Amino acid sequence: MTVRIGIMGYGTIGKRVADAVMRMDDMELIGVIKQTPDYEGEVAISKGIKLYTYEDRISKFEKAGIKVAGTVNDLIKDVDVIIDATPDGVGAENRSRIYEPSGLRAIFQGGEEAEVAEVSFNALANYDMAIGKRFVRVVSCNTTALSRLISAFLIHGYKIRRVRAYLVRRGADPREFKKGPINDVVFNPATVPSHHGPDVQTVIPTIDIITMAVAVPTTMMHLHMVNIEFDGQVSRGEVMKVLEETPRILLFSSSSRKFESLAQIIEWARDVGRLRGDVMENAVIEDSITVFQNELFLMQGVHQESIVVPENIDAVRAMFKLSSKWDSIRKTDLALNLVTTGKNYNLS
Ligand code: NAD
Repeated sequence: MTVRIGIMGYGTIGKRVADAVMRMDDMELIGVIKQTPDYEGEVAISKGIKLYTYEDRISKFEKAGIKVAGTVNDLIKDVDVIIDATPDGVGAENRSRIYEPSGLRAIFQGGEEAEVAEVSFNALANYDMAIGKRFVRVVSCNTTALSRLISAFLIHGYKIRRVRAYLVRRGADPREFKKGPINDVVFNPATVPSHHGPDVQTVIPTIDIITMAVAVPTTMMHLHMVNIEFDGQVSRGEVMKVLEETPRILLFSSSSRKFESLAQIIEWARDVGRLRGDVMENAVIEDSITVFQNELFLMQGVHQESIVVPENIDAVRAMFKLSSKWDSIRKTDLALNLVTTGKNYNLS
């Protein structure tokens, strides 16, 4: 079966998911829904992507000389699922206004409340929970990174007593020219826990996790400082083995490869020719991995613009029962060229 996909909202996440869908042999990108005729629409067309818009906006596209293939109604008739990558809250409106009345399935993003879907999804943590579901929410970039890291240990049979994570969030994405801060550290939020810990619990309900977060003037990546307390002693060697064996986790060494900042990780991604300089894996800083008895400390970079892309692809496979968990993760990673350290794709 080839799943026919439409994408609603062609911004930071939507355009990346569109490119990823086009690389999958079990999926077909039918088109994307855009509201505004602009350079991003023009680039999409140059890649062979069909644009659809709302009835009352067609004339705007015509005036701008950007070709539209049809209306939103035309697209939804031709797809099996919509991947909704609109801004926070719009997905929930779209669910009641468009997806429910038309009997469509949909995947939402992490800016929506968990209630928008039947399951909050992370491929490593709970792929099977999304099998056959109609509405799935791929959790946010920070929640995805924390869920992957925690799952790496749970999959390997470790028992976790508690997780405490401190998040230094990027102020804006590179394309967001109106957002900040430009010279501040913002309590984001000032309250504890930040929403990230409870959001991880929508994916891994049994985990004891508390998070705190600030936002700083960078567009590169988020940085997580994570402390995991295990039920019993672990060694650094064991931790290294777990991380090396888990797909979608990459280790960056300061001592042997001179990675000293997040900017260098993005530069690496550009140098190796990754599309848009994306880093879809958790970027764990190898030299930060430290163990004291039963406590692990580490830092990880989170490329907010791209880390959720593989999960959107796996969510489609789970909803349509196309593959088992590890087959889907392997297939996605191969197609997206992520297979760099994932030594084991059959851990369960
Ligand atoms: P974005 O602002 O970059 O893109 C959203 C796009 O949707 C824009 O092009 C906008 O014009 C369009 N849009 C708005 N309303 C629309 C509508 N009614 N119909 C069609 N298109 C519409 O946003 P984003 O950063 O891609 O975020 C999308 C979702 O992904 C949010 O839930 C967000 O929380 C989540 N997310 C974002 C990031 C990130 O760091 N950017 C990371 C993970 C998850």
